[in-house]
Amino acid sequence: MTEPFPVAEAEAKPCPFCGDRRMTVYQGDTYRWRVAVCNSCGAQAPDVRCTIGEGQTREQALADANKRAIDVWNERA
Ligand SMILES: [Zn+2]
Repeated sequence: MTEPFPVAEAEAKPCPFCGDRRMTVYQGDTYRWRVAVCNSCGAQAPDVRCTIGEGQTREQALADANKRAIDVWNERA
């Protein structure tokens, strides 16, 4: 189980459903997936896969995946 990752408000676009900017990135179905979720209404972005690149630590891969989860949220918002 990976830890929920609180997203800085400045990094996320407002939620298209409720307007809140407070997001958290959670683990998806398995530890390989990360998904950004609105703290207020629970709206979810599409989940992104966490893959460990060559020479990357698991922590770095997780940080990358968290960032991509916010990116896909921002693309949709
Ligand atoms: Zn919302």
